[in-house]
Amino acid sequence: MGEYHRKGFGLKDTVKPLLEAAYASRVVDLLRAKGRQLTRGNLTVRLAREFGFCVGVERAVDIAYQTRQRFPDKRIFITNEIIHNASVNKRLLDMGFVFLSGSYSQGETCDDIQSGDVVILPAFGAPVKEIEVLRARNCILVDTSCGAVVNVWRSVEKYARDQFTSVIHGKYNHEETIATSSRARRYLVVRDIAEAEYVCAYILGKGQREDFRAHFAKAVSPGFDPDKDLERIGIANQTTMLSTESMEIAARIRSAFVRKYGEEETQRRVRMQETICRSTQDRQDAVIEMMQPPPDAMIVIGGYNSSNTTHLAEISQRHCPSYHIDEAACMISRGQIRHLPMGAEQEAIHEHWWPDKTPLTIGLTAGASTPNNKIGETVLRLFELAGTDVTDLVAEAEALGQP
Ligand code: SF4
Repeated sequence: MGEYHRKGFGLKDTVKPLLEAAYASRVVDLLRAKGRQLTRGNLTVRLAREFGFCVGVERAVDIAYQTRQRFPDKRIFITNEIIHNASVNKRLLDMGFVFLSGSYSQGETCDDIQSGDVVILPAFGAPVKEIEVLRARNCILVDTSCGAVVNVWRSVEKYARDQFTSVIHGKYNHEETIATSSRARRYLVVRDIAEAEYVCAYILGKGQREDFRAHFAKAVSPGFDPDKDLERIGIANQTTMLSTESMEIAARIRSAFVRKYGEEETQRRVRMQETICRSTQDRQDAVIEMMQPPPDAMIVIGGYNSSNTTHLAEISQRHCPSYHIDEAACMISRGQIRHLPMGAEQEAIHEHWWPDKTPLTIGLTAGASTPNNKIGETVLRLFELAGTDVTDLVAEAEALGQP
């Protein structure tokens, strides 16, 4: 078995300037300095109280950069995207990192790893079996799994030890949920309230076993038998889900148990662990705060495969027209915006999105894997579309950094 590192290499100060050059934004610093609100001409841009890089993502990217510094001559692999942000992953690709799966993979697999190679586990973690394979290859493992994700694993592992099935609110094909479910003895992944209701109905005797198995074919452990495996359950969730939905799902499933077994027996059969991470919760709370009153439109920036970003857009679109974009260039003109519509899998173009209003307020937030430079570019693009010359704004922002 090769080396295992989980804490970086003491090179934080060395990589700090590199990270700043790659991901910082003076425009975002200026917005912060101005109370997260900037007005130029008829447009006001309001930024959420909590936005962008979370502590887990910051740590993962920081450790990846430290790894490059520590092993300048070694091949460095990453098992999957380090975080869900295209610009960050592309930059790592440019720095010579090799992706073993996901959109940035160029065909290399675990079979290509040789003794002495370096392999990074991303912020979402990795499945148990994959880690075993890597350990057997005698490589240097650098584990950037976020502590909040590791906490979920602890709950799920405890459920497994006690012979409880893990019911996980999440997306069965999301890297974090794949890693989490790999630590369960038996598991069922429930995506939303509609699926939770399906499970509740089954618990209460309203459903066919084979229909259940077909419905959750991709979302259960091998050999899952809903008649046996839903007798004692522990509830957990992917850390980046909508927290209100996670709570509702847990409450509905528990209530189905109470109806079937009574309260006292339910206490022996159902365990619950709220595992939404603090950063996800803070970003969701900040969007809710921004909606009092709501802006005229809301821009949510983040990768289209970023679960937490999707949920920020879901919250804001209940209050105002909201657009989930992954970069400033998505705002093609005042007439057209490219964005990921709610519930869609593909980007689409929306016409006439710019609110016809004067004065105009546009709200802005960003998912936990969005670097500040992407947010700053979006702010400038909004002012450009409003017809403002941003030269002064850029100069003011740059002046912030001057001694
Ligand atoms: S969103 Fe939460 S769980 Fe995910 S990396 Fe950030 S802090 Fe960790």
